[in-house]
Amino acid sequence: MSSRLALQGGKPVREAFLPYGRPWLGDGEIDQVSRVLRSEWLTTGPDVDAFETQFSRLTGALHAVAVSSGTAALHACVKATGIGEGDEVIVPSMTFAATANAVVFQGGRPVFADVLDDTLLIDPRDVERRITQRTKAVIPVDYAGQPCDYGVLHDLARSHSLFLIADACHSLGAGYRDVPVGTLARATAFSMHPVKLITSGEGGVVTTDEPDLARTIRRFRNHGIDQDHRQRMENGTWFYEMVDLGFNYRLTDFQCALARVQLERAAAYISRRREIAGRYDEAFREIAGVRLPGRAPWANHAHHLYVIRLDPNFFRASRDQIFKALRAEGIGVNVHYIPVHLHPYYQKRFGTRPGDCPVAEKAYSEIISLPIFPAMTERDVCDVIEAVRKVTHAYRSH
Ligand SMILES: *Cc1c(COP(=O)(O)O)cnc(C)c1O
Repeated sequence: MSSRLALQGGKPVREAFLPYGRPWLGDGEIDQVSRVLRSEWLTTGPDVDAFETQFSRLTGALHAVAVSSGTAALHACVKATGIGEGDEVIVPSMTFAATANAVVFQGGRPVFADVLDDTLLIDPRDVERRITQRTKAVIPVDYAGQPCDYGVLHDLARSHSLFLIADACHSLGAGYRDVPVGTLARATAFSMHPVKLITSGEGGVVTTDEPDLARTIRRFRNHGIDQDHRQRMENGTWFYEMVDLGFNYRLTDFQCALARVQLERAAAYISRRREIAGRYDEAFREIAGVRLPGRAPWANHAHHLYVIRLDPNFFRASRDQIFKALRAEGIGVNVHYIPVHLHPYYQKRFGTRPGDCPVAEKAYSEIISLPIFPAMTERDVCDVIEAVRKVTHAYRSH
């Protein structure tokens, strides 16, 4: 344990860099993508329908609509709920910028709410404080894979007539008590980016139980046109009408074929993630100055991220220094997230300032995301544990 840090010229814990996330792709995915490439439909074909059916079955939602990214999924949710010019939408500050950007795309104004200190999930009491006459919706984010406190959020939404949209880009397969993510809000957005729980290269999904929302979102992903290319072929007509402004947010058939294989393994992926999180909990509980990720009592966790916090009073080095030292040991640590209200764009365009969300800001200066993904080997898990022990030991202040 007295070995010299790689940052100071010592031998690194591992030579081959371990990323914080990496997809698990097998022959099944390759076979299915090849099958589609040899078929008639590359996009808007039968694999899109089959994937959507499979996705809605897994989440228990009545409708699932595949789109080209998680960002497109969020945008479609914001559009479908009728958010427009001058409307305010409350989002947590501790999230990826896309959550807030989706509101801006439609002319709305994101209002940043602070998070709870233990779980870093949106703080319902702070949400309530930020509600005004103009507030139309709330977009809670299931940070790290734990559902937010949807019980309380639903009550808030009901009593203030707000729309609840869930950003579930981290929480496919998770649940709030016994209720699966995908049915906890009026519309839910998922991502299939390669570091997320399942992947299609790029991709996203919206789930909802409301047929009107599903119809609007299907149209929105196809330029606002009421029938897609295949429906027109089947009906033997060239006629279509564009009834609303939309985008090309479609997902291809080969991506859906890939995602179908991934979806079958989603439960196995999550149990492997849970195992790794358990190993980390056990190992890091012993290290003074390292705070384990908080667990919400209602959460059935998808373990998308494993985020530790470094108590600044315990270490002689800053988070940034410890981050660099872990990278030098070959561990692909990361930081999720820079609070969105601190990004220059939001400060300039919406006048947000440091101090707006003090809990998120303090957390930001202390957090480090450690590698967690189902394809990690036992060796990988041990290397992460060893590197965290080595680096925190070297920098402890007493
Ligand atoms: C990944 C992510 C998104 C965006 O998803 P993309 O598929 O990359 O567009 C949005 N919100 C959160 C919380 C995310 O983690």
